[in-house]
Amino acid sequence: MNVFSVLDQAAARYGDRGAVFLGMQQQHTWAELHERALRLAGSIRSTLPAGSRIAVASENCPEFVELMFAAWAAECVIVPVNYKLHVREMQQIFDDSGAAQVFASPKIAAQLDGTAAVPVEVIGSDAYRHRMSTTPLESPRRTDPASLAWLFYTSGTTGRSKGAMLSHRNLMAMTVSHLADFDDPNQDCSLIHGAPMSHGSGLYIAPYVLRGARQVIPQSQAFEPEEFLDLCDRHPGCSTFLAPTMVGRLVHTGRNCPANLRTIVYGGGPMYVESLKKAMAAFGSVFVQLYGQGEAPMTITGLRRADHENTDDATLGCVGYARSGVDVTVLRADGTQADIGEIGEIVCRGDVVMSGYWNNPAATATTLQDGWLLTGDMGCFDARGYLTLRDRSKDVVISGGSNVYPREVEEVLLEHPAVEEVCVVGMPDADWGEVVVAFIVGAAAETDLDAHLLERIARFKRPKRYVYVDYLPKNAYGKVLKRELRERLFAEEPA
Ligand code: AMP
Repeated sequence: MNVFSVLDQAAARYGDRGAVFLGMQQQHTWAELHERALRLAGSIRSTLPAGSRIAVASENCPEFVELMFAAWAAECVIVPVNYKLHVREMQQIFDDSGAAQVFASPKIAAQLDGTAAVPVEVIGSDAYRHRMSTTPLESPRRTDPASLAWLFYTSGTTGRSKGAMLSHRNLMAMTVSHLADFDDPNQDCSLIHGAPMSHGSGLYIAPYVLRGARQVIPQSQAFEPEEFLDLCDRHPGCSTFLAPTMVGRLVHTGRNCPANLRTIVYGGGPMYVESLKKAMAAFGSVFVQLYGQGEAPMTITGLRRADHENTDDATLGCVGYARSGVDVTVLRADGTQADIGEIGEIVCRGDVVMSGYWNNPAATATTLQDGWLLTGDMGCFDARGYLTLRDRSKDVVISGGSNVYPREVEEVLLEHPAVEEVCVVGMPDADWGEVVVAFIVGAAAETDLDAHLLERIARFKRPKRYVYVDYLPKNAYGKVLKRELRERLFAEEPA
């Protein structure tokens, strides 16, 4: 089984319909995309053996789609690299993955100029175009489903990024689960790539290709809210994956729901209840939430579309229930199963779970145990099987022996009208072990925030300190870098 089969299907069934668009401009039909991918695959295999790692370092671009399928047709491994990373971070990924070839956008190729130890080819260059004259490979028919398809480098919020090994089976399990649980596109639909294609948006290519839905790359090759909403007005039946911060930026435009927007899948980081309510008021019933990790791509639990309607805050603040084909449970520290309502570590298993970290048996051994993926996230189930995520285990603050879950404090602080963004972390303290510190973007006074919290949550969860900042540091995927905020606090403390 090879994920390339989804493109075989699209080409056979929807051959002369538009497949890839840059803005409103059609680039290729499905038949053309199929042929381009097989020609590229032929050129790759003329110099590299099966199993080679092929890195792509580019802003979102139409060629991302053909490169992905070319790597799979060639039975090689795609290694998408976030274009917002620093050149040194990109180098680390090339080195760690042992990439044999890098395809880079002109901008990134210029940044990498001379520094990469691996051949770098500019996407769209003469050399790239020349590959299209190679004899096409046959579609792969005998790929072992367990073989590696994608080396997914984690976003590294808690340390150095690691390569999660995703097989063809993992990607197909993700695809089937997406179509079963979240979205049901057809050939009159579109996937708009707002978020980086190196991450969630790229993972979603497979289900939409299988159904013949257009792949639309914004002309800006980035996420510009106004442009994004225009595309959702003009392309048919639009779906997209966005990080919660991107959803917030759409809401800030003040525009109504575009005519053709069907589905926004959001996730990858916390969506606060207040923000979700605002988004639903602006765009209506288009939202689906995913909870996943690079290690179980896009697929652990999900809050389905219907779960967003006429519901209470507890449901809006949870991450839904287990995805089709995935077992999810919560364990106590001693490895026994937690009761309903009891917080523990979330673990999952199923065909979507990675086979390990590339070249990193130690990290693999601590993360995969007895067939279960230990997510490092804390949470609890309710009696209906809905999972509420607390925080990553490393982010829980233990103050005076009591656990404080930053997400809970953040949710309440965000209900205050003068708080725009917030991040809660723990800071070492001689008396308490740790104390709660809130970084605030906004104009609310400390006394107001204290009063606001005291009306809503236990006194011990209240921050001992508020730090006002202009913005929160975020990584290339828009996730808040708690590590950096903690380091900032450490730096001010006398040794
Ligand atoms: P990554 O592997 O970089 O995608 O990061 C995965 C991590 O993001 C998870 O382990 C969670 O901590 C967090 N995450 C993913 N989805 C959600 C969600 N829906 N709500 C809150 N946090 C999430």
